[in-house]
Amino acid sequence: MLIGPQNLAVNVNLVRSRINLVAQVAGRTPSGVTLIAVSKSQTSAACRAVATAGVADFGENYLQEAISKIDSLTDLKLCWHFIGRLQSNKTRTIALYFDWVHGIDRFEIAKRLSDQRSSHRNPLNLCIQVALVPESTKAGLYPEEVPDLAQKIAALPRVRLRGLMCVPPAQTDASKQLSVFIRLKQLLDQLNSQDLQLDTLSMGMSEDFEAAIVAGATHVRIGSALFGPRTVIPSIKETHEHYT
Ligand SMILES: *Cc1c(COP(=O)(O)O)cnc(C)c1O
Repeated sequence: MLIGPQNLAVNVNLVRSRINLVAQVAGRTPSGVTLIAVSKSQTSAACRAVATAGVADFGENYLQEAISKIDSLTDLKLCWHFIGRLQSNKTRTIALYFDWVHGIDRFEIAKRLSDQRSSHRNPLNLCIQVALVPESTKAGLYPEEVPDLAQKIAALPRVRLRGLMCVPPAQTDASKQLSVFIRLKQLLDQLNSQDLQLDTLSMGMSEDFEAAIVAGATHVRIGSALFGPRTVIPSIKETHEHYT
């Protein structure tokens, strides 16, 4: 895939049309699905091109890499989502630079983010990451652990619990993709029946966002379908290793 401002704009339009089409077919309002451009390993020039094509939300996994991009794109007033693994020594910087954190799996992290979020800013938006499929590299909480954590986070002052997030293992069978996403939607409904007011389902990536939208995704996190395949550039490789 060619990478240039024009191609990026074409990719944005293509992905948007796919989002709009599946939302309509599923009887949903297309504006109820936010496209998060996952820009890990992409340059700030590429982000600028995607933003110019109309994307306002960006997702980053690696903090060092994200900070320089966020700093160089402040004129665009973008909304930044941290979607990577969280380490407690990074929470202060994350609370400073980001608007959303997807991938919360411990109270301790949410508490630090709340303590460190400036009272002059809007509360930081959080999503709890749920592991719906048993995995060796378990990321997220098992569904039965979620209600307790959700209640505790909802009581914190400087963060706002918005909903749930998942990253299921890659799966090409659309009906299997769908059944996992439906379970996240059911868990959200269950939490909302317990007095929480959650409005966010962060689910769906380049290979499975259509199934996620059918199941009720409000935020899809899309990288390669927008930017083309990722290549790890040497300066970023360090940061990747740091997190593994
Ligand atoms: C990389 C990443 C994405 C985007 O993946 P693509 O398959 O490139 O769309 C979405 N969510 C998370 C958590 C990621 O790490």
